Amino acid sequence: MAGQATNRRAVLGAVAGVLVGGVIGAVSGSTLFPREVVKEREVIRTETRIAERTVTQTAERTVTQPVMRPAASPGDFTWKESGKTNIVVVGAGPAGVQFSKSIVELMGDRVTVTILERNLSWVSGPAHVDFVAGVKKMEQVTMTLEKIPRPGIRIVNASVVQLRPEERTVYTNYGTTKYDVLVLAPGIDLATWEILGLSKERNLHAWDPVRAVMLREELAKITSGNVVFGVPAAPYKCPPAPYEVAMLSREFINEQGKGDRVKVTVLDSNSGPQPPPKASYFREHMTKLGIDYRPNFKIAEVNPETKEVISVDGEKVKYDVLSILPPNVAPSFVREAGLGTTYMDVDPTTFRSRRYDDVYGIGDVILSPYTRSMYVAMRSGRRLAELLAERLGVSRPEKTSVYNICWSYVNKRELTVIEVEWDDAGRTKTGFPRVGPPTAENFSRRQEWERASLLALYG
Ligand SMILES: Cc1cc2nc3c(=O)[nH]c(=O)nc-3n(C[C@H](O)[C@H](O)[C@H](O)COP(=O)(O)OP(=O)(O)OC[C@H]3O[C@@H](n4cnc5c(N)ncnc54)[C@H](O)[C@@H]3O)c2cc1C
Repeated sequence: MAGQATNRRAVLGAVAGVLVGGVIGAVSGSTLFPREVVKEREVIRTETRIAERTVTQTAERTVTQPVMRPAASPGDFTWKESGKTNIVVVGAGPAGVQFSKSIVELMGDRVTVTILERNLSWVSGPAHVDFVAGVKKMEQVTMTLEKIPRPGIRIVNASVVQLRPEERTVYTNYGTTKYDVLVLAPGIDLATWEILGLSKERNLHAWDPVRAVMLREELAKITSGNVVFGVPAAPYKCPPAPYEVAMLSREFINEQGKGDRVKVTVLDSNSGPQPPPKASYFREHMTKLGIDYRPNFKIAEVNPETKEVISVDGEKVKYDVLSILPPNVAPSFVREAGLGTTYMDVDPTTFRSRRYDDVYGIGDVILSPYTRSMYVAMRSGRRLAELLAERLGVSRPEKTSVYNICWSYVNKRELTVIEVEWDDAGRTKTGFPRVGPPTAENFSRRQEWERASLLALYG
């Protein structure tokens, strides 16, 4: 494997050499996917045989292609231009979008970036919690991708099914693309299969935006019984969110005057609320709200017939409404390519795969000391762009550090805050983490940060 890595380094070095040498190809991009948001004049020629005469009609129409999807089977849709580095990015979430915009900003027309994204929009992750609280609606934070394509960046609306790093090829449901550099930012999958019986039950966790909305609807309907939340062992996406969702749900139930008839239980695989620096606030407020919090409860099974959650030790808890966050893992195409067993294995200082040195990972998909959050996804997207630009011969003085700030609800009005900054080696810098108590000001800070971030990413 070491030999292979050295080989790839040489190839990438050669690409960089061409770039540094200033040779910029004039060859146009793939005809299937023009590289800009273009208004293309398409000539349609129709020939109709009428009796013995041939009538030829010529028409023109204007085609706008903001997010591209080929009409016919595209086969190979590689975007390779002479002298440019062909970068393929999987995922148009915060990590993938921030990286793509930053690398084009830093490298100009020395790169082409193809973003592969299966959806046509991105729903803000942090707002999932707001859907449960009833303070935001999904349409307010559903961001379409139209403003991302620009010179140097195209988005292909396709779902990645397989990676073949040995061949530098990505397989999608729409065809294949080759790459010089691959950046994986597909977020996580939920390993529902790890909890027996869970796939047969209606599981209203907030890691899916629609289920988050459905959870609130279900809480509005329930008149008595048990609402049960489940938390997997860390690390998982957005550590404080399971406790926020449970507290906001309990508050909503209390507001409706059903507090004495509806019980709320949190079954936590961890020994205390996550992240540990916020644990005391979460414990205090869960107690205040009357939540039954049970640490070290590792869920093994859900029985949809008896409506019971069963722990690895055989302990049973009855439920009427279920909201379990399953363990988080990298999507199967990442694991099947040998890039990691649970999450993707990378060197946290370079975001480079430990196995292939032309493959990188950023955001939630990687195993790293960094929090799985939108803030970190954006900062590491920017950082990777700087590192890659440097590797391709474009050195810039700025150096973005990986940093996170995260505000978490303890009730609808008040939020705690945590700030962490990491050094180049992925170690928490001295003076961090900084934690602040719940305040009402943190509510507006969080809303303002989310609004500005969505605007910066999706326009
Ligand atoms: C309930 C909840 C609360 C949260 N609260 C906060 C908060 O307060 N603060 C904060 O900073 N963060 C918060 N987050 C976390 C934040 O949303 C994520 O950490 C962030 O979105 C990660 O960005 P990403 O780009 O790595 O992945 P994602 O946002 O998951 O984006 C991945 C993209 O890849 C695409 N994709 C996946 N597989 C494929 C495929 N096979 N083919 C093509 N495309 C694919 C997906 O469609 C998606 O668009 C919260 C998340 C949740 C669920």
